[in-house]
Amino acid sequence: MGKPEKNKAAVRKLTFAAFWNGIRENLFSAFFPEAYVCLDCGKELTDKERGFSLCDSCRSSLPYITVTRCRFCGEVLEGKYDVCARCQSCPPRYDKAFSPFSYEGVIRKIILSYKDGNANYLYQNIARLLAGYYNSLNLSCDAVCYVPSPRDRILRRGFEHNRKVAKEFAKWTGLPVIYPLEALKRPDQTKKTREERLKNIQGAFVRKQEFPREQAQGKKLLLIDDVMTTGATVNECAKLLKDHLGAAEVFVLTLARS
Ligand SMILES: [Zn+2]
Ligand SMILES: [Zn+2]
Repeated sequence: MGKPEKNKAAVRKLTFAAFWNGIRENLFSAFFPEAYVCLDCGKELTDKERGFSLCDSCRSSLPYITVTRCRFCGEVLEGKYDVCARCQSCPPRYDKAFSPFSYEGVIRKIILSYKDGNANYLYQNIARLLAGYYNSLNLSCDAVCYVPSPRDRILRRGFEHNRKVAKEFAKWTGLPVIYPLEALKRPDQTKKTREERLKNIQGAFVRKQEFPREQAQGKKLLLIDDVMTTGATVNECAKLLKDHLGAAEVFVLTLARS
């Protein structure tokens, strides 16, 4: 008896949070026009700089990844091998993961400000940075999809952060957006430790709706997410895209690697 009441209260709380986030977002953008000042140093931006929300100087000092990384998952390598121990013992189901930046400095700030809803417009900047990097990779994927957020997170934020980025990314790259992972059930992962995440990720995604298989079957897909940590989530998504939908290849693109 007590459980439905508890759930109702939780939904009410989340609905109110989504409502409040909407108001907060509008108020914020009214007082702080998007991309008016540099997100990092606060300097007023020129017309040219506004597209990135960063002044030229801050943009030139972005934390690009320059160290040697695992050729599959992108983890920092110290030894003489080009594949990390994890990928050697258990090769990932995605074909390769790419990230232009380390999860630090202004990149971390951009991701957090965007996801917190304080700077909702930043999906455009993230998409532009991702598109620029993707175009330099010559991957020629057939379509782009993204890692979906759990429902409670979407309600709390008032928006699906990866979806907005993927749609904007599509404008810059010409890739069609497909939604094969949209109908999945995904548990809250943030409060778990890495070991718990790895343990729980197996079977964590359950397909609930049908998806037009021909959009993925035999295709080379690009999977977008914001930050890659252990890679367990994108690996599970890649597994689903390949095993259930017949995708031929899955490449992962995240803005940052932690
Ligand atoms: Zn700056
Ligand atoms: Zn690896």
